[in-house]
Amino acid sequence: MNPKIGILGAGQLARMMALSGYPLGFEFVFYDPTPDACAGQVGELMTADYHNEVALEEFCQKVDIVTLDFENVPVDTLRFVQKKKPVFPSPEVLEIAQDRLLEKQFCHTYQIPTTDFETINSLSELKFAAKKFDYDAILKTRRMGYDGKGQYRINGPESINQVPENLFEQDLILEKRVPFEREVSVIVARNGLGEVTTWPLCENKHKEGILTTTIVPAKASDLDEQTVDYAKQLAEALNYVGVLVIEFFQTQDAVFVNEMAPRVHNSGHWSIEGSYTSQFENHLRAGLNLPLGSTGMAGMAAMLNWIGAFPEGILSINEEHLYWHIYGKEPRPGRKIGHTTLLAATPQELHDKIVNLVKKLGVQF
Ligand code: AMP
Repeated sequence: MNPKIGILGAGQLARMMALSGYPLGFEFVFYDPTPDACAGQVGELMTADYHNEVALEEFCQKVDIVTLDFENVPVDTLRFVQKKKPVFPSPEVLEIAQDRLLEKQFCHTYQIPTTDFETINSLSELKFAAKKFDYDAILKTRRMGYDGKGQYRINGPESINQVPENLFEQDLILEKRVPFEREVSVIVARNGLGEVTTWPLCENKHKEGILTTTIVPAKASDLDEQTVDYAKQLAEALNYVGVLVIEFFQTQDAVFVNEMAPRVHNSGHWSIEGSYTSQFENHLRAGLNLPLGSTGMAGMAAMLNWIGAFPEGILSINEEHLYWHIYGKEPRPGRKIGHTTLLAATPQELHDKIVNLVKKLGVQF
């Protein structure tokens, strides 16, 4: 019998998961509060609130196993579903990954370094902590933040005045800014039998908190082994099943966990064409306790994100080892609506291909 997989959240991650699972004969049902969620274009979509137990019950009856494409699915929803069907990752993992404080505390239990931080519940606490961090810090909401949402740069006493008063109604965290040389992510897949694998290290660039480009493999550095080790340790410690992505800051001589994503991740999209097995396929394999596929790659890959709008005439650009992914989402400022992957044999070739593409499209990265 082909497994029928339920996915909570029906965005582009769910869509790409399904597109990777169809060749293996898997079937999918998506669940999302938004009726036009883009995975609905490639499979059955149930539209209902995450707290609607009648709809969740019906969803569970339709599927054999459940996963998610969005880490802010309420933990209680996942707990409810877990009583009916196996879920991956677990609600316990989700609870940690939804809260920047719990995430950091979990890392510290295993002596894994994170950014320095202070929890903040009031303006006076913010003033005190900002001073402690020499007014070089980032204020973040503990929960529900992604793509730079809910973040405020603190770069002087006056920047504290820019923070909206009502932000203090939420639990906050102030992080000291890390003067990183680069940002990298480790994509880990682990199945329920304890088999673990990672893809080559990804180097990521962000603009205004949103990922714009990923290059893989990242240029080798002395910190890489330690970085990958930390990610594997976290996957083991969480008894994780599925794909887990850990984002790191690397400075000249140290590495810090920035945050973890308990799901497939934008910095792993290149793996669809760039690796022998994509993050999406291995996520599904992991959840079904199948052997994980090879995470090797033949050369190098670059992923460019399209945020808010596509340049004119993209599909008329058709070159060897260039792949377009259009998610079927309504373009909106700050919204991820597609990505492009480029493959090349060498760093120079990859660089030239990026420069060439960007020039042809008349865009900037
Ligand atoms: P986050 O949502 O926490 O991943 O933050 C989005 C982006 O903001 C990161 O990828 C970094 O580029 C930047 N950023 C966030 N926190 C810090 C920090 N503590 N130090 C330096 N840059 C940061």
